[in-house]
Amino acid sequence: MPSRTSHAPGVRRPDVPVAVVTGGARGIGLAIAERFLAEGHRVALLDIDRKTLRATERRLRDPDRVLALVCDVSNQEQVKPAIRRVAKAFGRIDALVNNAGIAIFKPVHETKLAEWQRVLAVNLGGAFICTQACAPVMMKNGGAVVNIASISGLRASTLRVAYGTSKAALIHLTKQYAAELGTVGIRVNCVAPGPVDTAMAKLVHSVAIRQDYYDTIPLNRYGTPEEIAAAVFFLCSHEASYINGQTLAADGGFEALGVGLPTLRNQFNPMRERRKPK
Ligand code: NDP
Repeated sequence: MPSRTSHAPGVRRPDVPVAVVTGGARGIGLAIAERFLAEGHRVALLDIDRKTLRATERRLRDPDRVLALVCDVSNQEQVKPAIRRVAKAFGRIDALVNNAGIAIFKPVHETKLAEWQRVLAVNLGGAFICTQACAPVMMKNGGAVVNIASISGLRASTLRVAYGTSKAALIHLTKQYAAELGTVGIRVNCVAPGPVDTAMAKLVHSVAIRQDYYDTIPLNRYGTPEEIAAAVFFLCSHEASYINGQTLAADGGFEALGVGLPTLRNQFNPMRERRKPK
């Protein structure tokens, strides 16, 4: 059973839109939640990390508009009652952001079957389960789903056999859901971030890797969680009312780059010396 981290949210306000953000306790998910709050939404945060979720809920200090639920998105038995609680507390769901994700970066021959299965279960299965659970509630008013994929789902790379495959599949899942849910007024799109400065990135990006990214990305830098949140908010907004089934790369031009040989780029790159990894 998902567990509420503290007291119940305030009274129902049927006209105020509601966003559900998975993996919302920190990083990109938290920035997305903060953007929705800044735009006047109520927000439900679903996250597996109870301690960080509780700290985030305390920091946001907005019990009328924030509902924080501990929940593993890969577990249908936890997601279903969590979404029921969101619907009961807030009365509607207008946006769902499937952001919860995990990264295991290992060579093919070192990736254990259990690791492969866990990455697929969270990154792909989580989006399937949460969208399926939210759709019946969203159908009442119409709405938008945004899946958070990755540049790793658009371009293959070393060490990402599980992560990259899960994100590529998530991009296709976006189209599958768009095809079916579009007919009931729910748009489904995807944002594929390039590297973003978060705890997940710090875990898997060494100083050398950070330099490689700076050398490869046309904008010569990592993205910020707020920049990803802006793309997500746009796709959920009325401004994107005819956009369905698309993937928007928010990656500083990383995906656009074909033959992006760092040696050639650096010959013409005055920014290089100014962008040292932290
Ligand atoms: P973080 O690890 O900083 O935050 C992710 C949050 O999701 C954590 O609180 C994490 O909890 C939670 N979470 C993990 N598994 C589950 C689960 N099964 N159910 C519910 N919550 C879960 O990640 P980021 O903010 O960096 O990334 C967010 C998304 O963006 C991910 O999908 C990621 O793949 C994607 N992305 C990130 C990029 C980056 O450079 N940061 C680049 C491209 C895409 P816990 O801490 O316990 O794991």
